[in-house]
Amino acid sequence: MAVTRTPLIAGNWKMNLDHLQAVAFVQKLHWTLKDAKHDDDSVEVAVFPPFTDLRTVQTLLDADKIPFALGAQDVSAHDAGAYTGEISGAFLAKLDNRYVIIGHSERRQYHAETDEVVAAKVQAALRHGLAPVICVGETSEDLEKYGASAVPVGQLEVALEGVTADADIVVAYEPVWAIGSGQAATPEQAQDVCAKLRAVVAERLGEDAAARTRVLYGGSVKAANIASFMREPDVDGALVGGASLVVDEFAAIIRYQK
Ligand code: PGA
Repeated sequence: MAVTRTPLIAGNWKMNLDHLQAVAFVQKLHWTLKDAKHDDDSVEVAVFPPFTDLRTVQTLLDADKIPFALGAQDVSAHDAGAYTGEISGAFLAKLDNRYVIIGHSERRQYHAETDEVVAAKVQAALRHGLAPVICVGETSEDLEKYGASAVPVGQLEVALEGVTADADIVVAYEPVWAIGSGQAATPEQAQDVCAKLRAVVAERLGEDAAARTRVLYGGSVKAANIASFMREPDVDGALVGGASLVVDEFAAIIRYQK
């Protein structure tokens, strides 16, 4: 039986929008989608604000019955204790976060997160009922040396160590050279790597998990190119950075079918 995966359009705000700006943004996005009659649930929308916005955005989503999922941009590998500056999965779960981004290339690059740290954070997320959005991707040097898929496949294999077949996870293929560069991968490149990542999920967690798990593409996704990615059979959505900060652009990405 063919499994249908609900597409996921996820907005990674990075270190942008304070909690007041977040309220204005989420309200405007909601009304823009409503005006455009995008009130069906054929596409799941998720926003990933900075930590300091999460409580405010949670309250707004709840009070105004706005159907966006909430996610954080990182989580501690630890559950509690003497870890100054860290945020535990337990805290995120209490704020109704459904998702948490783990292993974004900016964390790997600027905070020296290794594949092992990423794997420990995936376990921390799952312990607290959060679905990890596991980010993998090759740099331009990796691409030249090893081709597109070897590095992301290796990163995902480590990230999935200890993950059980029933775990709720999302995989995001984000070529580092495509992030914030305006130079997206081609749909064919994205499909090729996303299919290989799905094969890793199948090998590690089984065919059912592979059929169920959303594999996203990320890296310079815009309203103008989203439909071409979504036509690919193994691309189940997008992790959007810059374009998720512009209401009309992000709304157009969410409405890619229309
Ligand atoms: P971008 O970022 O859409 O601005 O390229 C994507 C990401 O880093 O998740």
